[in-house]
Amino acid sequence: PPALVWFRRDLRDVDHAPLAAALAAGGPVYCAFVFDATILAPLPRDDCRVAFIHASLQELDAALRARGGGLLVRHGDPRHEIPALAAALGAGAVYAGRDYEPAAKARDAAVAAALAADGRRLELLRDQAVLDGDAVLTQAGTPFTVFTRYRDAWLKRLRADDLAPRPSAHGRLAEPPLPGGVPPLAAIGFTAGRGGPGVAPGMSGAQALFDEFRGRLARYREQRDFPAAKGVSYLSAHLRFGTVSIRALAAHAWQEGGDGAMAWLSELIWRDFYFMILDRFPHVIAGSFRPAYDRIAWDDWPEGLAAWQAGRTGYPLVDAAMRQLAATGYMHNRLRMVAASFLCKDLGIDWRHGEAWFAGRLLDFDLAANNGGWQWAASSGCDAQPWFRIFNPVTQSEKFDPRGAFIRRYVPELETVPDQWIHAPWRMPAEAQQACGVIVGRDYPPPLVDHAAARERTLARYAVVKKAG
Ligand code: FAD
Repeated sequence: PPALVWFRRDLRDVDHAPLAAALAAGGPVYCAFVFDATILAPLPRDDCRVAFIHASLQELDAALRARGGGLLVRHGDPRHEIPALAAALGAGAVYAGRDYEPAAKARDAAVAAALAADGRRLELLRDQAVLDGDAVLTQAGTPFTVFTRYRDAWLKRLRADDLAPRPSAHGRLAEPPLPGGVPPLAAIGFTAGRGGPGVAPGMSGAQALFDEFRGRLARYREQRDFPAAKGVSYLSAHLRFGTVSIRALAAHAWQEGGDGAMAWLSELIWRDFYFMILDRFPHVIAGSFRPAYDRIAWDDWPEGLAAWQAGRTGYPLVDAAMRQLAATGYMHNRLRMVAASFLCKDLGIDWRHGEAWFAGRLLDFDLAANNGGWQWAASSGCDAQPWFRIFNPVTQSEKFDPRGAFIRRYVPELETVPDQWIHAPWRMPAEAQQACGVIVGRDYPPPLVDHAAARERTLARYAVVKKAG
């Protein structure tokens, strides 16, 4: 019987576990994607993620057509659309990549049940993680909650087959007997409007970035923390939407070896780690991984939140970070840590507000990594930053953007401020402010909080956690 491959966050036709499994079954293979109306409904009409997906689908459709197939695209509720497509195509099985988000798991269970009621089955394959589920457990058979131990076990457990490409590039696909093709963005109610992050979509966009990054991989460990440098891969959106295979990236790092490649592989393992945490501890989407942290009393401070969101806190590195996010849909990892820490430990605002703000704007937004990152910064997560460790936004700036190059790129009103004062312009004497033409309070905001005082408040705020043991 025919098989149906249901594409979700795996928008490529090479090294694709569900496609490989469907082709291996031997019958005709059809391909489909559903724009989930429930997910799309609350998004702004110019959401850059939808445009990225749309462009990536066009490339995928073209690649599938070149192989004799093509993409069937629907807009609606996948719980109905997928079983209906499977029935119309006479597919005995639907193949898809396993997802670890609670809502996706519930959706997949509903689709599986609807298919089963009709004598068909849903096959979920590991594709977006290198290792998942029960592959990496402690000796007691429980999930790891300390990253370094998880990573060591992950590396020990890894087999050549886990990184081997899933053969899916050459099989024959069947031309869909139903109307197919990717509808224009407008047909699903969206526009390509917002500036966008300049990350080229699709498999070709991913390939170009990776080809370029390969030459920098050996220097990743030294350069990854400096946002002004081109030190990281910028592949996160492609990993998010599966326009590149995680296996191919991990295999490359593994084969290259050395400090840089192994440091990068370790980041890819963090990705698996947070998928696993979300899968095994789904309560993290609503509350702290460690429940004692839900006793913390946060400040209700809408003006503080608005200043942070707008990149107007008076702390240049934090402001540059928040403006990078607004302008590009991306934020460098060091800055995600600094900006997140600033929200909860300098402004005393609940990390969930920050999590939601990032979720609405990151092109690479991923529930598992974003929640994990925020809970790391708020100290409430598994293997998080200890609560008494509080980033100083000025020393972070001095260390990771020493000449202020990144700050000047995103906070142009500080362009003329001398290096000496760029990290804390309010410390600049009046004559120096006059000389460079930047008056704090007129041209750039004064600091929203005093870091030393905020630090004391935070230590007091987190004391409830200490008492909870
Ligand atoms: P590289 O340094 O080149 O790393 C390669 C890949 O490894 C990344 O693309 C990503 O897939 C993975 N990775 C790296 N660091 C992490 C990490 N800490 N956790 C999980 N995976 C990681 N990453 C997201 O993909 N989506 C998010 O929504 C997200 N939100 C975050 C929120 C906060 C508060 C923090 C501190 C981190 C967040 N991260 C998130 C992790 C990390 O910042 C980004 O993955 C990284 O900055 C993406 O840039 P890159 O592709 O150049 O990374």
